[in-house]
Amino acid sequence: MPGIYVHIPFCKQKCSYCDFCSFPDKSAYEEAYMACLYKEMSLRKDQLKDYTFDTVYFGGGTPSLIDAKYIYGAVNQIQKCFSLSKNPEITLELNPGTISESKVKTYKLAGVNRFSIGLQTAIDEQLADLNRIHNVRDYVYATTLLKGENFSTDIMLGLKNQTKDDLYKTVELADKCGSSHISMYALTVEDGTPIYTDYLNGELPDSDEVAELYEYGRSLLKERGFDRYEISNFAKKGKESKHNLNYWRRGEYVGFGLSASSYLMGNRITNTFDLDEYMKCILSGFIPAVDSEGVLKKDAMFEKIMLALRTENGLDITEFEREFSVSFTDKYRTALQKNKEYLQVKGSRLSIKEQYLYVQNGILMSFMEENEKK
Ligand code: SF4
Repeated sequence: MPGIYVHIPFCKQKCSYCDFCSFPDKSAYEEAYMACLYKEMSLRKDQLKDYTFDTVYFGGGTPSLIDAKYIYGAVNQIQKCFSLSKNPEITLELNPGTISESKVKTYKLAGVNRFSIGLQTAIDEQLADLNRIHNVRDYVYATTLLKGENFSTDIMLGLKNQTKDDLYKTVELADKCGSSHISMYALTVEDGTPIYTDYLNGELPDSDEVAELYEYGRSLLKERGFDRYEISNFAKKGKESKHNLNYWRRGEYVGFGLSASSYLMGNRITNTFDLDEYMKCILSGFIPAVDSEGVLKKDAMFEKIMLALRTENGLDITEFEREFSVSFTDKYRTALQKNKEYLQVKGSRLSIKEQYLYVQNGILMSFMEENEKK
């Protein structure tokens, strides 16, 4: 089930933890960038003529910041250039504080049928600390505009002064407002971001505290009927993100726009991160790839294991053996033996036991070491 990713690199302001490819001061480029994006799609039309795509995902940046007509135009262009399956999942990331009734109307007209809202926390002081543009009221307003729609809410763990009570309020709000899916991620602190100073000053919760918050959040979500299907993702029945499931299954995808990656026929291609360069290339009729590599078999094997073991369903051993023509149990005998306490096999599926899913790094290390052996 291949997917299409579309990157919109514009934001109103930079969040204190953000090192994504996004610009707070480039709104003047909006129209030109979107024209390039449409052109990139037509440039790759022939290359992708044999594919049928099941999902489309608008991420960023803040896709809901730009004029909604461009999202409408992008879906239109995708339909013109590529073949989509009968009922494709079309997701748009949405930042509360950039949303209006007319925008939502246009998204729906375009065919967007899933939204992903970045709440992060239901505590206004923490939102301000993260330099987010929205407050809790904006989130509630955004969800009233999406009443009856299928939407996911992002929640963050590991924030300064974050308590279990804060997390309770956050989960409760996201649930009460109608989320059908919740992504609960631990804050990743990147060197060079403003929040890195808080980290150096010891002001952020340590990994044990974050793990405790995670377990607490997981139990709250379980009580409310959100089943975990990947370490950080929880969904009501049937509301899993198809687009992300494809990534975790190591399926193929194509990415359009600045910094977007594609993985097709065993090759990974990444577009430039330089906005001017991206537009210059596209206008000259070239794909602005800066990195292109064939993925080695041993790397592909480890990726497959690593991604699959993030999910509750785990790894399909039969599929793995078919794809790579190796005996899984022979190849990874030591890792399987070493971690037998943490792993379980049901039918042909290998997965990490529920209680160990969050602390899987050590398990993956064993597979990685064995992967390097001949
Ligand atoms: S909204 Fe997202 S992409 Fe934009 S600055 Fe904040 S974290 Fe980064």
